[in-house]
Amino acid sequence: MAIRIPWSYTPKHEPVAAKDVDPEARCDHYSCPKCDVKLAFNKAYDRNAGEDIIHVPAYFKLWPNEVHTVACPFNLTEQFKVIASESEEAGEFLKKEPNARKYRFRLMALPSSGKAEVGPDGEALPARLPHARNPDFQLSENKLPAYLSTAKRIFALRSLCESNTGFEEALELVYEGRTIAWSEVCFEKDGFMTAHAAVDGANGRTHPMALIGKVKDTFKTTRNNKTSHVLAMEPFRSRRSPEGIVTSVEPRVSAPKEFFLEGISKGDIVVAFGHWNPFQATDGEDKERGTTFKNHFLYLNPRRKDQIAKAPREPEGAE
Ligand SMILES: [Zn+2]
Repeated sequence: MAIRIPWSYTPKHEPVAAKDVDPEARCDHYSCPKCDVKLAFNKAYDRNAGEDIIHVPAYFKLWPNEVHTVACPFNLTEQFKVIASESEEAGEFLKKEPNARKYRFRLMALPSSGKAEVGPDGEALPARLPHARNPDFQLSENKLPAYLSTAKRIFALRSLCESNTGFEEALELVYEGRTIAWSEVCFEKDGFMTAHAAVDGANGRTHPMALIGKVKDTFKTTRNNKTSHVLAMEPFRSRRSPEGIVTSVEPRVSAPKEFFLEGISKGDIVVAFGHWNPFQATDGEDKERGTTFKNHFLYLNPRRKDQIAKAPREPEGAE
């Protein structure tokens, strides 16, 4: 499958990191550091994304038609089995029917009321959450922690993969009884504009969504005597229109307590999951370049720390 593997062995069984491979002098093939299966080298590349360029570092990936062994942590299907087996409750959300080819994950609307997670200082704060209109697909309060912990592990695993395409071969998403495409749920930087349009046009009737992005900044704000701890992801900026307008979308996680963002700092890749809200656009101007900016924001108000995670470097059990 499609997990990006950061290091491997050469045919002479010498360990090598993908970042150290000279693309001109690469070996014909490499082997998986955990199960020895044949791997291919993928050199680093830049992807154009509006005004910006996204740099994708070099990695190794499974050779076509090869399969990692059952015990290998780079085997995606086996990773889902581990997640499902480690919690009985996770089994309710993450399941494989006896004859099904892949695992299924049930996406749930988060409860529209309730308290945020209690921090180390013992104080719980009420959370602001969008109203999920269909109660049939809402989680009960007592299953919320198990559900979010499962969702976090799944989206963290997705962040290790090349794209949604490779990932959906191994995991199907089901929402309100129907299969939903990964491209409608999980977005990286060049998809922030699409995510914003989907949330903005949904009239409050939206489904849970995960965004994967690089941390631009974390800061504290106080409004009406209420302090929030904000994580801002690097925005996506569209190409300049003929009129000189650049439209940007910046996702922000606004947490009620500092410990929600513990261990996360500028430059980290993070995954944030839940119901996102569009926020009024602001205009800016770059007089030197003659550019007008239209800045849009997407806000997530998490209730639990599990809704935000630093992207892992390798799958569970690989390090
Ligand atoms: Zn392997």
